[in-house]
Amino acid sequence: MPADVIIIGGGIVGLASAERLQAAGRRVTLIERAGIARGASFGNAGAFAFSDILPLAAAVRLSRLPRWLIDPLGPLAIPPAYLPRILPWLLRFWRAGRSDRIARSTMAQTALMRLAESEMAALTAAAGLAGMVRKEGSLELYESEGELAASAAGWQARSAAGIAFEHVRGERLAALQPGLSPRFPVGTFVPEWQTVDDPFTFATRLADHVIAAGAELVEAEATALRPEGETVAVTLADGCVLAARAAVVAAGAFSRRLTDPLGDRIPLETERGYNTTLPPGAFALRRQLVFGGHGFVVTPLSTGIRIGGAVELGGLDLPPDYRRSEAMLTKAAAFLPGLRREGGTQWMGFRPSLPDSLPVIGASRAGPRIVYAFGHGHLGLTQSAATGRLVADLLCGRAPAIDIAPFSPQRF
Ligand SMILES: Cc1cc2nc3c(=O)[nH]c(=O)nc-3n(C[C@H](O)[C@H](O)[C@H](O)COP(=O)(O)OP(=O)(O)OC[C@H]3O[C@@H](n4cnc5c(N)ncnc54)[C@H](O)[C@@H]3O)c2cc1C
Repeated sequence: MPADVIIIGGGIVGLASAERLQAAGRRVTLIERAGIARGASFGNAGAFAFSDILPLAAAVRLSRLPRWLIDPLGPLAIPPAYLPRILPWLLRFWRAGRSDRIARSTMAQTALMRLAESEMAALTAAAGLAGMVRKEGSLELYESEGELAASAAGWQARSAAGIAFEHVRGERLAALQPGLSPRFPVGTFVPEWQTVDDPFTFATRLADHVIAAGAELVEAEATALRPEGETVAVTLADGCVLAARAAVVAAGAFSRRLTDPLGDRIPLETERGYNTTLPPGAFALRRQLVFGGHGFVVTPLSTGIRIGGAVELGGLDLPPDYRRSEAMLTKAAAFLPGLRREGGTQWMGFRPSLPDSLPVIGASRAGPRIVYAFGHGHLGLTQSAATGRLVADLLCGRAPAIDIAPFSPQRF
């Protein structure tokens, strides 16, 4: 007998899809090749960044680019060997920065974020994970009033979307985060921003929940899938073939290896990100701090203080360059003078990224039984439950909770 729904990928998007499908009454088989949440979902910054509605192309300010690119360990790097490969993606990214496209993506992202907030609340309640969510807000920091003024358009767009925020200075700023370097005289507090205790623990506890609710975990690599009559056949690396009524590709940055052969040409790339996690107590952090001008965040987790971000457009095969983790740690020590920088663990992860900063959520060209759920870039944890809800809508024959046309795999 065929399985009901096979999900390829046991990262946060695959797991949230499993949970939302189970909540809709479907039986799930999860195929994961490297252990639950050992990909991008392992070491991210743990934010439910519901207010991040602007595409990256809008946030990357041209005035900053030369400074960023000149610094080989700066917030944005393109290893020369990878430049020819990434050029077509960069051109699409550039086009995504046109004002009409920014307006369209922001509208789509706003709808997805609203759904993300309500679906994440439903998922954490159902899975018993609500206690892992911290509702402390975030604090974005600027080195001058001019830097804040330069981000005004972004805050106006958030205001129009009904997102609350407060620009803070002086005592109010010091109360939100004591011990900051005076180099940052002004900040923006976003109260709705949430973080999890630890993204890996969050994902593994979600996996425990879906397995306890009946999901089967197959530890294997899926090498291909194809529709076959009323089913989908999924081939594993050992040659075994599993059949299911439907399949979901949630393989993060590696998804193209499965979707290209199905005729879908999706410009998925990876934005490699880096961090260092210091032991708990390395700094008395009140909430997540965002150093936008330097491309990194500092996050309080139950497992320590995580310092990281950055974007390296270097593909899936180059070895990690942990000097990037080191460079952000050095900056963080200057920005937070009391920070104890010893004893950290470094990490690099592959963000799965599309040039318009929107994920791919929708059916394959090959047929409606194969649904894609990947490409969430910087926001996969935040949007995992909403994606799961939309996947469940598609596979249960329900009208999608929001318009999914902007996320179509065929939009490129
Ligand atoms: C430094 C950094 C900080 C970040 N901070 C945040 C944040 O604060 N908030 C936020 O929302 N997002 C954040 N992100 C982004 C977020 O981590 C990703 O968008 C998200 O984890 C993607 O989840 P995923 O399940 O799609 O991919 P992954 O977590 O990579 O999972 C994909 C899984 O599929 C498996 N797989 C791949 N191919 C196959 C195959 N053929 N067969 C079987 N299994 C396969 C992989 O082993 C992997 O486990 C951050 C990312 C980075 C790098």
